[in-house]
Amino acid sequence: MSIQNFFEMIYWAGVVVGAVIRVKYTRPCKKNKIIEDRKSTLDMILVTIPGIGMFILPLIYIFTSRLDFADYQIIPAVSLTLGISGGLVHIAAMALLWRSHFDLGRNWSPTLQIREQHSLVTHGSYFYLRHPMYAAHWLWALAQPLLLQNWVVGFSMLVTFIPVYFARVAREETMMLEHFGELYQQYLGETGRLLPRWRRQVTG
Ligand code: SAH
Repeated sequence: MSIQNFFEMIYWAGVVVGAVIRVKYTRPCKKNKIIEDRKSTLDMILVTIPGIGMFILPLIYIFTSRLDFADYQIIPAVSLTLGISGGLVHIAAMALLWRSHFDLGRNWSPTLQIREQHSLVTHGSYFYLRHPMYAAHWLWALAQPLLLQNWVVGFSMLVTFIPVYFARVAREETMMLEHFGELYQQYLGETGRLLPRWRRQVTG
């Protein structure tokens, strides 16, 4: 087994962990009825596209030699350094994906929706970031080119996730603001989108 194969295995281990987290934490959400739905057809299309970047293309890469032409041409020491860094970033992505699902609980939705017993989550990872789940996806997109050392497959998650993030994040915040009003306004002022605010004040 080459070192690249080993990094590919780490990538796939992350895919499995990510899928288990998704299934475990999103199933109970179905019991919490949707009372407001702002998803558009474009949202539905965009939400499926990262599946190509994080799953379909890596699958083609592993099982065929069609994409081998785009493999990085780098010396083993660089490949090793990239792979180890990628493994660490991938672990961080999975940890944040788990933690954000754990914190969001039954308020999770794949698109822009408000549920019957929706509460504004401001604890755990949401204490530091407004979008820890999206941050986990950014970390995944960063880990992928380090683990899958190929110009096409490495960047496929990044390319497919960018449109989802930018089409959604501002609209999600508008929806939350309209639903939670003053509470969310205050939360907006206290947290960063993807990075914690410098010197976040702990209020009682
Ligand atoms: N943007 C968040 C959540 C992604 S799931 C993140 O990246 O972690 C998307 C759904 O989560 C949205 O439809 C919204 O209903 C809900 N949501 C987003 N932020 C929330 C919060 N702080 N508390 C409760 N629900 C939230």
